[in-house]
Amino acid sequence: MQPTHANAYHGYVTDTAKRVLLAAPRGYCAGVDRAVQAVEQALDLYGAPVYVRKQIVHNVHVVRTLEQRGAIFVDETDEVPEGATVVFSAHGVAPTVHQDALRLQLRTIDATCPLVTKVHNEARRFASDDFEILLIGHEGHEEVVGTAGEAPDNVQLVDGPDAADTIVVRDPERLVWLSQTTLSVDETLETVRRLKARFPNLQDPPSDDICYATQNRQVAVKEIAPQSELMIVVGSRNSSNSVRLVEVALEHGSRASYLIDYADEIDETWLDGVTTVGVTSGASVPEVLVRDVLAYLAERGYGAVEEVTSAQESLLFQLPRELRRDLKAAGRPETVAAGRSLPLASI
Ligand code: SF4
Repeated sequence: MQPTHANAYHGYVTDTAKRVLLAAPRGYCAGVDRAVQAVEQALDLYGAPVYVRKQIVHNVHVVRTLEQRGAIFVDETDEVPEGATVVFSAHGVAPTVHQDALRLQLRTIDATCPLVTKVHNEARRFASDDFEILLIGHEGHEEVVGTAGEAPDNVQLVDGPDAADTIVVRDPERLVWLSQTTLSVDETLETVRRLKARFPNLQDPPSDDICYATQNRQVAVKEIAPQSELMIVVGSRNSSNSVRLVEVALEHGSRASYLIDYADEIDETWLDGVTTVGVTSGASVPEVLVRDVLAYLAERGYGAVEEVTSAQESLLFQLPRELRRDLKAAGRPETVAAGRSLPLASI
């Protein structure tokens, strides 16, 4: 798709030379929207507290906001009182976590993104066919821990291109690579290239594991980075896809790029000598935080905002099955997760 440009924001005194290029798509993806709505709906249906294992999505603001509504975030399932309700985060969990929850008689709502579940299914299938799985991803990331947990005896982690040069495999003829959903597309291609140089019969996944939202947000940054001296990425430091956007901006022409949770983290000196500021946000970021950044910039003369759209997104996921079942039993209309332009803005 050819990028389209639209002026989006007005109403401030604007320095005509200064402008903002606003990447689109940005912000919430379908999996994050569904996971956040799952916690909100669970709070409404069952009442507080609702426990959430790990951060439901990697965003400080989302977590704080849900905490104010009665969500309690825990690191492990055994911190949840017996019989309570626990939501598993969008990043997915290993089968052992489900077993722990069953043992503790917890009511579980699995908000794993369906696109992560797809990778889990691939891991199980290839392991049952006795393949060794080279899982490209970041060591310790929750999604990687969950995916590897589906086939711990068959998965070997490959954390970046350099790791591809040193790994040892048990049979180079029965090898497949899978990946975390939120990686840099370019870096992953480089990792695969180096793996295939060593293991020519390495099989590809049946379909892309890096998800549509990660890919689209990186393409959108590539569109605006060459014209943006400064790129501001709204997102949290533990958000893999947000961190990747900073890297992509720097690789594609931005002189500087910063990751911030809130507009008040912007250092005014970043704007020294800057005519064009690029703005985007990671897949776990509510749009209200981007609007705060645009307001901050507008107050400093960057009131002209041009939205550059490189893809349209329309994917929606239904709420987790167990939650839909309970909503139906409670006589509430079955709710389907729908994209929200201003998620959490009204809370
Ligand atoms: Fe799902 Fe991709 Fe969003 Fe992760 S970033 S929740 S994999 S759609």
